[in-house]
Amino acid sequence: MQCIHRLPKKNGNRCSEMAVHDTRFCGSHRRFSNKSSLFYEMDVFLGPSILELNSSNIYECFQRYWNSNKTQYGMNIAVIESSFQCTEILSYLLNHESVDKLAQSLGIDYERGQKMSAIMEIVIFMRKLWTLNQQPRYVNAIQQMQRKWRRAHLPHMGPYPNEPAVNDEDIFLMEPISKFADWEVFSFKDDRGQVFAFHAKELGKHVFQFKNVFNPLTREPIAVADLRRLKKWMSIFCKNVLIEDTCLTKSWATPLLAFTDVTSETERRFGIFTQPEWYTDLDMYDIMNIFQQFHIYAGRSAPWMDELVEELAFEELDTVASQMALAKEMYRLVLAEGVENHLFMICCLFGSLAKVSNAIHESLPAWLWDIVV
Ligand SMILES: [Zn+2]
Repeated sequence: MQCIHRLPKKNGNRCSEMAVHDTRFCGSHRRFSNKSSLFYEMDVFLGPSILELNSSNIYECFQRYWNSNKTQYGMNIAVIESSFQCTEILSYLLNHESVDKLAQSLGIDYERGQKMSAIMEIVIFMRKLWTLNQQPRYVNAIQQMQRKWRRAHLPHMGPYPNEPAVNDEDIFLMEPISKFADWEVFSFKDDRGQVFAFHAKELGKHVFQFKNVFNPLTREPIAVADLRRLKKWMSIFCKNVLIEDTCLTKSWATPLLAFTDVTSETERRFGIFTQPEWYTDLDMYDIMNIFQQFHIYAGRSAPWMDELVEELAFEELDTVASQMALAKEMYRLVLAEGVENHLFMICCLFGSLAKVSNAIHESLPAWLWDIVV
């Protein structure tokens, strides 16, 4: 039988010598056998199989210790009596660093350097956990409450993993989908019922930060209902990524109302004055033309309008739909934050508008043309 002596501050490392036949200690630790109650307690606490004490098995130790005390003394006495011993055991076994790490991993607040108070907090925390675990009804109730909370507050993460996804790797991180936790994986179906799965945060960035509402694997548009689910998730876990996402939040009843908002923002932010009616006079071909012109001015690399041309190709095109599309793109561009060459992009936009609308052309300030040309 191995000696039960544990080395101080070594996170539970035990002596490797064999015990002398009539004691539980080896020759060199035999002197501890007369003041050995702490070591016997420790032996129960740590259990025979665990050699090293770390935060992943520490609750197991407490559980073993209190369970064995419970059968000996009854529940209440076990908990109260043994808490002091647990504090003593931990302060003997653990060094400063391990106490810090353990307290941190349990989210315990304590003053740095106050090792004893940290240990006491750890013991109290474990005790609550153990007490709770003695009452399976409470645990069930908590689990039920958590499930209810999740249903009410968290968006549905999609058909995966109940239904297999077409892709088994996340396209953004190049890692297997199965590696992520359930709540990190966002999935949706396309028109043909195929399931696509993504790392939710990366897909959220792709959609909301880079303004790209297309399935990155197929280049087909993602359904609005799915975008809403994703947005809800982002609003809980990655608020900072969710910058002004006007395309999804702003919905106007008519093009006139839309352009009323657009023109007042443009005037407020850039001092460019136009009338909403000038935009509602544009027809579908004018608007397609504006998108084309924009790319001639701004260059192919501009992250604006490009998707919209594709998006329009999927929809039944009519004047109202294309006016709404133009209003959304304009609003998005005018309100955008942190865009490189923002003023240049705005000038390109109005330069393009001026190509198809005389009214707009005549109202533009002279400085605008200096920037575009
Ligand atoms: Zn020994």
